[in-house]
Amino acid sequence: MSQPPDGPAADRPRPYPGHAAPHTPLRPMWCCRSCGQPWPCSTARLLLRNEYEDNPVSLSIYLCGLLYEATRDLYRLNPAGAPSPTDMFTRFVAWGPYRRPPVSPGEEC
Ligand SMILES: [Zn+2]
Repeated sequence: MSQPPDGPAADRPRPYPGHAAPHTPLRPMWCCRSCGQPWPCSTARLLLRNEYEDNPVSLSIYLCGLLYEATRDLYRLNPAGAPSPTDMFTRFVAWGPYRRPPVSPGEEC
């Protein structure tokens, strides 16, 4: 079975200010190359929100693509100790655009 193609290049957010180290992921560990926190760090989230302010659909697609890339990297790196799918979704996608409020059990969607 062939493997799906690669996701997007992890080249956002752009450096801010322009001469600073960018808060982009250092692969395959997926920590921030500027501050060392798990990517996306709080600065990366702020910069991404700002950068994609007028295009939340693109931000959502970018984050989903990087969720895919990061999951592949982290499971290859440490199959037994990689973060759970729930943790990965929360880390990469849930903070972005189109969040919905949590639904309580038994509550209509
Ligand atoms: Zn950072």
